[in-house]
Amino acid sequence: MYHSILVPIDISDPEFTQQLISHVETQANITDVAHVHFLTVIPAFPYYASLGLAYSGEAPSQEQIKNEALSKFSEIIDKFDIPEERIKKHIVSGSPKDEILRLADSIRADLIVIASHRPDIMTYLLGSTAAAVVRHAKCSVLVVR
Ligand code: ADP
Repeated sequence: MYHSILVPIDISDPEFTQQLISHVETQANITDVAHVHFLTVIPAFPYYASLGLAYSGEAPSQEQIKNEALSKFSEIIDKFDIPEERIKKHIVSGSPKDEILRLADSIRADLIVIASHRPDIMTYLLGSTAAAVVRHAKCSVLVVR
């Protein structure tokens, strides 16, 4: 049984997250002391700007990007049937794999639940984020396929 479960979520692809739900609920609800930390990593603002994303007028501020991300993130988390008081949300910017591993250390995660890759990219057994997490995490990693 696990006490500190980390669930990284890619908010750009909600379908992708669907496959994690039953696995996370099962692990989180074995005891009533397990905390589930959901994490989403948004690319740093200069990255968005350098892509020249379809913002014809003013580019959105870091705050706007974060608020939009938070609302999508919360919508996804609402699909998980886990008591609210045992859920924590984390939004940071940076590199997904680095931030996942950093948060895992700081919350002393004993389990990370991660999807293996986007369903439409079937040629890969493991996406690059999932592969890095499996390789470097100090705790158990459940890779959902
Ligand atoms: P793919 O290469 O198909 O995108 P990844 O290995 O990048 O596969 O993604 C697998 C998993 O990694 C996702 O299910 C999610 O758990 C995590 N992940 C990927 N990107 C992010 C992100 N920006 N923030 C949080 N978690 C992420």
